[in-house]
Amino acid sequence: MPAMTADRDGAAVVTRFAPSPTGALHAGNARTALHAWLLARRHGGRLILRIEDTDAARAAAGAEAALMDVLRWLGLGWDEGPDVGGPHGPYRQSERGALYEALLARLVAEDRAYPCFCRPEALERARAEALAAGEPPRYPGTCAGLDPDEARRRLARGEPAALRLRVPAGRAVAFDDLVRGPQRVDTGTLGDFVLRRADGTPAFLFANAVDDALMGVTHVLRGEDHLANTARQLLVLEALGLPVPRYGHLPLVTGPDGAPLSKRAGAAELAALREAGYLPLAVANALARLGHRYPDDVLLGLDALAAGFDPAGIGRAPARFDPARLARWQRLALEALDEAAFAAWAAPVRPAGVDTALWRAFLALVRPNVLLHGDVRTWAAILLAGRFEYDGRARAALAEAGAEWLLHAAEAAARARDGRSIVATVAEATGRRGKALYRPLRAALTGRLDGPGVREVAAFLGPVECAARLRRAAAGT
Ligand code: GLU
Repeated sequence: MPAMTADRDGAAVVTRFAPSPTGALHAGNARTALHAWLLARRHGGRLILRIEDTDAARAAAGAEAALMDVLRWLGLGWDEGPDVGGPHGPYRQSERGALYEALLARLVAEDRAYPCFCRPEALERARAEALAAGEPPRYPGTCAGLDPDEARRRLARGEPAALRLRVPAGRAVAFDDLVRGPQRVDTGTLGDFVLRRADGTPAFLFANAVDDALMGVTHVLRGEDHLANTARQLLVLEALGLPVPRYGHLPLVTGPDGAPLSKRAGAAELAALREAGYLPLAVANALARLGHRYPDDVLLGLDALAAGFDPAGIGRAPARFDPARLARWQRLALEALDEAAFAAWAAPVRPAGVDTALWRAFLALVRPNVLLHGDVRTWAAILLAGRFEYDGRARAALAEAGAEWLLHAAEAAARARDGRSIVATVAEATGRRGKALYRPLRAALTGRLDGPGVREVAAFLGPVECAARLRRAAAGT
């Protein structure tokens, strides 16, 4: 494990998150962003947000703003980025064209890169032939030996051309991945690859690598789908004489079924989790542990997550994003809220017209029984609006008690001195105790057998409302 507190110049750790704004941020990308943030935080370093939007065809309107919004919700800030600026801007690749052109011109001038006039059909044919022969598909080098004068003439005529890096033959590119350890790639397997597409846009391999270097990034944490790109990116940086970051490739994030999250439409999108009422700290605790081990399974604040973050603790096996584990973090994060913070959490689902005192009493009652906003809505419908159906178990409990008993109970409830004495009054009048009493009472008052304690529910509803619900239940049996 190399020293992580500083880069080769003794400067602070600089990490980055470099999303392509092609859609909503799902748990896999968010994990990558969080890990980069945690690494920077751990070492008192900086995080850069860079938007990789060179592929206009795939860019989704509003995706950039949405991803910044949801990262901030998660609690992650960045020290440099398209909105906050910084010394290494612009931070959108679509605005960095001049920088790329200058570097590409240098590569061409030094004959480290050359124009390639091959048509897509020809490249596709070569690819198919290589695959058929059981060889890795790589560029056959058709344009590598073109006479420079001829190439210039064709370019001057306006013939479309990509630009390819001349990959040195017969060498190995070696690097020590922070997660996967020593890697070695034979340049013979790579082929000359595209730096700039024929349509003039920079290729990912090029723009991504040079931006990390130009922005002073010291540590790149990213998804393992990019492991195979790293050797090519190192060759780009070498050709330009640019500094090389340390790379760490994070294990794939899968859904509970083991299928990659990135391939599932709408899978665990952060915006959807926020909408459902998950707390950012619950999500952060779940994401921080995707592929990364912490010694304790306790809820940690972001700073504590950072203090315990170590790339050496990142595993190689795919990490499962498990809703049951997320629910556990949500429970712990909810428990950690004080009353005011809990009320603030529930505020978005407060029904109109419910006064503050009643809403507070309601929240105190249901707090142990809610995990998400939907649960608050459900209990508000039951307890505040009296809007509910009897579920199967409730129906059985009501049938067992019978209409006569329920009417008897209703009369008793109506006579109770106050809310607190309703259950005792019904017990006294009907001679039922324990489960035989609680089950039909619960069923009549809430339509279900789980939830807050029946005494507390009865006290909350009061004698008049309890009596009405018991009569309603009697009429329905
Ligand atoms: N824009 C790339 C992606 O979203 C970034 C890869 C990287 O982090 O280097 O996959």
